[in-house]
Amino acid sequence: MSHRRCRYCLQLFQPSRYHPHQLVCSRPDCQRQRRREYHRRKLHTDPEYHQVCRDSQQKWRCRHPDYSRQYRQSHPKSVERNRQAQRQRDRKRHLRNLVKNNLAFDLKHSAAEVWLLGPQAENLAKNNLAFSQVLILPTVRLSPAAAAGS
Ligand SMILES: [Zn+2]
Repeated sequence: MSHRRCRYCLQLFQPSRYHPHQLVCSRPDCQRQRRREYHRRKLHTDPEYHQVCRDSQQKWRCRHPDYSRQYRQSHPKSVERNRQAQRQRDRKRHLRNLVKNNLAFDLKHSAAEVWLLGPQAENLAKNNLAFSQVLILPTVRLSPAAAAGS
């Protein structure tokens, strides 16, 4: 039987005679990665599989009601990272809703550049990760009567 190259570790391996179409070698790390990819793909493509996984997680949480609270207490960095990620998702959702909303109908792209000044800007320029924030400021329109009165 001929050798194959594992798609993960790129090492040559001999496919099992029970699985002649084997594409991944039998090293535990490669098998773990294969299962993880299968699981993620299946979650996206199979609603029933997704539901079964969700039910299973729910049952586990019911059997271990204190786990999440204890984990958060012992992993403050993880809590902060989750909090930041959630804020980012909330901002994105908020922005998407604004775009969908008629009130922001005259939303336009601005080609303006942002220049960073000061000693901390040097650190920011070196860093690949830069936080960005999008602000949408509604224009204030005065009614003709109010404009005439002021
Ligand atoms: Zn491998």
